[in-house]
Amino acid sequence: MTATLAIYQLSKSFATRSGPLLVLDDISMRVESNEFVCLVGSSGCGKSTLLNIVAGLEEPTAGEVLLAGHPVEGPGADRGMVFQNYTLYPWLTVRGNVEFGLKLRRVGVAERRERVDRYIEIVGLTRFADSLPRALSGGMKQRAAIARAMVNEPQILLLDEPFGALDCQTKETLQEFLYSVVCRSGITVLMITHDVEEAVFLADRIYAMSARPGRIAREIEVPLGRERSLACKRTPRFQQ
Ligand code: ADP
Ligand code: MG
Repeated sequence: MTATLAIYQLSKSFATRSGPLLVLDDISMRVESNEFVCLVGSSGCGKSTLLNIVAGLEEPTAGEVLLAGHPVEGPGADRGMVFQNYTLYPWLTVRGNVEFGLKLRRVGVAERRERVDRYIEIVGLTRFADSLPRALSGGMKQRAAIARAMVNEPQILLLDEPFGALDCQTKETLQEFLYSVVCRSGITVLMITHDVEEAVFLADRIYAMSARPGRIAREIEVPLGRERSLACKRTPRFQQ
């Protein structure tokens, strides 16, 4: 349930009325197995475009994305995605949302139930399993979205500004939560944020992007990132 992500010389142009718009220019980066990497950059610099390419939702103009050594082609259950605006299906309960992908993949009933219950418990929503999204707070919706992304036991978790729409306190609680869940599962993570403080708190390593066109401007090791992760594995800081 973990793999290395390698991105080689990735470029992306969008066709616009005034000609091609180069959004990503020659991006190369890696996320090692078990590593938590944040990509930071100002609004509009191309972060979501990059993540959508990794998720298989957009095609690159040039370059390659390899997960566990294999080129990614289209969306797949090996990548779990969490968006900023918790895109839960409003007509499905928390359980229905978390179960959705497993049903599509025809995972058997017994295994499906076991996994759905387990991940709903991990995100602390057992009491709300049969609630509809509209009955949940923003933070709870985002926890449901994290469970839905993790229930497929993907090789990498891709998060696009997952806490951007939350108030400060909920955001801090969810940062702690993500940190402990990720540490316990040892999953590889690529998370986008424009919040540098959040990146420093969560990441082992940070890539900073510049804009127009989007390029990797800097790569920053977070001091003690890995040691901190190991300490966290021993004593999870978030208790439900
Ligand atoms: P970020 O997530 O860093 O805020 P985005 O990746 O969403 O940035 O967008 C980067 C740039 O690409 C923006 O200028 C945006 O307007 C442009 N862009 C994104 N998607 C499209 C599209 N489908 N067609 C044309 N331009 C796009
Ligand atoms: Mg974005």
